[in-house]
Amino acid sequence: MSYYEEAVDRIKNIDANLYIGISNKRYEEVRSRGEYEADSILIAEYYRRVGVFLQFISKQATSIYVGMDMLIGYKMDENEWDNFPVKFPNFKEIDIMLMKLFSIHYLRWCSLLDSGNLIALQFPDVYEPMIKLFERGGGQINTHHHELVGGFGAFSRSIDARRGNMKPFDISDHALKLIINEVEHAEAYLAEYKRGSRIEYTCIRCGSRLLIHSNLTDYGYQWYKIKCESEGCFDKNF
Ligand SMILES: [Zn+2]
Repeated sequence: MSYYEEAVDRIKNIDANLYIGISNKRYEEVRSRGEYEADSILIAEYYRRVGVFLQFISKQATSIYVGMDMLIGYKMDENEWDNFPVKFPNFKEIDIMLMKLFSIHYLRWCSLLDSGNLIALQFPDVYEPMIKLFERGGGQINTHHHELVGGFGAFSRSIDARRGNMKPFDISDHALKLIINEVEHAEAYLAEYKRGSRIEYTCIRCGSRLLIHSNLTDYGYQWYKIKCESEGCFDKNF
């Protein structure tokens, strides 16, 4: 199977049911906090891969609207945007502009891979994190002012080449599942704590004790920090 054929299969199989009607819902009605944490890892890994690519082509930054194919001089066909939902009927129901845009550029990138483009062949998996995000139901992304926003929080709309200096993020199914489990575990711990229970929870990553710190903002808003005793391990605010 060619890169392009595989890409067509993957885009065709993105489940429209995951996306129908969600633009009217609040983020927390669509996905859990843990799922959004996993989504943010996929997006961070995409930014990192783009950063490595930018360094390779000696460019300082790009925008999330710009496809990798465009960065090496290719232009979109005039009717490509309109033809996309014809070829991928599931996208008649998925009304998320960025998902469409990423999918189109992913397909174009795969065509370049099949044609033996030497630059593309150095970065065959640059789109993998975003396509995986869409397949998992995390594609409700949008831009607002200078940011890419979603239930995960916000990323800058421009991608800096220095992102490529970061350590790769593990986006395997196993690693993403662990992120979701850790957040659910911490949420369960917090629920116990709020009920007055003093049961202790341990970190599912390393087995050390998890600590809860209760905090109050100047405006009287209560929030909690849940932190693993091991340095650099689980540490999130709830
Ligand atoms: Zn730990």
